[in-house]
Amino acid sequence: MKTTVKDHNQLFKEEEYIKQFEEKKAFEAPCSNEEVERVKEWTKGAEYKEKNFARQAVTINPSKACQPLGAVYAALGFEKTLPFVHGSQGCVAYFRSYFSRHYKEPVPAVSTSMTEDAAVYGGLSNMLEGLENAYALYKPQMIAVSTTCMAEVIGDDLNAFIRTAREKNKIPQDILIPFAHTPSFVGSHIVGYDNMMKGILSIVKQKDMPKNRINVITGFETYPANIREIKRILDLMKISHIVLGDTSDSFDSPLTGEYNLYTGGTKLADLFDAINSKTTISLMHFSTEKTMEHIKSEWLQETISLPYPIGVKNTDYILETLSKIMGLQIPEELEMERGRLLDALIDSQSYLHGKKVAIIGDPDIVLGLISFCLEVGMYPLHILCTNGGKDFELKAKELLEKSSFGKGCNVYAGKDMWHLRSALFEQPCDLIFGPSQAKFLWRDTKTPLVRVGFPIQDRHHLHRIPIIGYQGTLNFLIQVVNTILEELDRQSIDGPNFDLIR
Ligand code: SF4
Repeated sequence: MKTTVKDHNQLFKEEEYIKQFEEKKAFEAPCSNEEVERVKEWTKGAEYKEKNFARQAVTINPSKACQPLGAVYAALGFEKTLPFVHGSQGCVAYFRSYFSRHYKEPVPAVSTSMTEDAAVYGGLSNMLEGLENAYALYKPQMIAVSTTCMAEVIGDDLNAFIRTAREKNKIPQDILIPFAHTPSFVGSHIVGYDNMMKGILSIVKQKDMPKNRINVITGFETYPANIREIKRILDLMKISHIVLGDTSDSFDSPLTGEYNLYTGGTKLADLFDAINSKTTISLMHFSTEKTMEHIKSEWLQETISLPYPIGVKNTDYILETLSKIMGLQIPEELEMERGRLLDALIDSQSYLHGKKVAIIGDPDIVLGLISFCLEVGMYPLHILCTNGGKDFELKAKELLEKSSFGKGCNVYAGKDMWHLRSALFEQPCDLIFGPSQAKFLWRDTKTPLVRVGFPIQDRHHLHRIPIIGYQGTLNFLIQVVNTILEELDRQSIDGPNFDLIR
């Protein structure tokens, strides 16, 4: 007998399910439809906005994830490295599914599977058994250990646990085990990334012959294509480099017919040689603060935090800085790319100019997007950075003050997308730049959404298209201007302005 498996989009429209939903609704005894509509309207007004911004006890749709997710991400940027999370299995299932939904790729990560008994007696036996099993099953060269809330609340000591595992010969003596405490009740995924990256770099201590080469730390950069783009730019400039935490192949590996648990990542030999490089540059200040401090104080290396390279100005600055550090010319090919970007910006200028934008995301990407808006004549009217603090706020305001397009723009550090919803009803925008979670704002406020940042779980392949450098900015511009044009078509569909040529 032939059975058809129906997609949920059709399945739940069938009579059987419609009836079920109605019965469920009756059982739940909700308010009347009129009351729901009345409250919905009320949440769009000034009175509700005031209450919403005074809210303290609950966070609704924040644009952030928790620390160990960032730690897992950092670990996957190194060759044959297994992310190992000391904590409950459910947390790791969440990290893996969060990444898988963004990349459409399997994500290797294991947990010590702590449950109630570990919460009472401590997680040492979970750690010992976990390390032994993880090594026996997956044969990694490096195991990068981080923690979840549970391990942190009971105060498990990773350093002591790992030492005990070695003393008890649960794992080979020579296996590398960097670790980082990543308590999720403070910070966010970018702090977890920073902690783990610092933990990994901390195992490198031995200096050798200095090399005329730079290290690049991209930060919590979730576009494999961006990492490839920065490597392409460095190759074009003939700059010898090591990308530390290179996730480009880990999250975008080719289909070969065979599953490979460990794809890509910075070679471990390069990790140990990176201490001999001349300079380390970071492309995301806020997700590499502790790491860069460590490199400066322990590796005694020059460190430079550069702005996220989206837009003409930021890319110019980065190329000029690289050219100065290495004493090399910016090649003609990059100058041509710059020229093509300028040409495209001018072509689209009439559609960009004066548009109001709401921006949502991690601090460095948000700062890059503000810079992009200001240079193309858009107003970044609402700027939301859930995991941004005072430093972020200051930097954002500094940028806004430098341009007339920044006047009257609002910065919401530490707020969530439900706050932004109120702000958007009060001062509407033409566009939102942000992750998939912002689609609820699109639905409620009808503001078109340009998907950028992390996570993007409801559209495919955007992580395969670079948005940094001149070429990447051009790609982003295409996304932005075509979203504006789509909206223009949609709005004029029944009128005389439904133009063929825009
Ligand atoms: S916030 Fe804590 S409990 Fe929740 S997924 Fe993260 S580590 Fe696990």
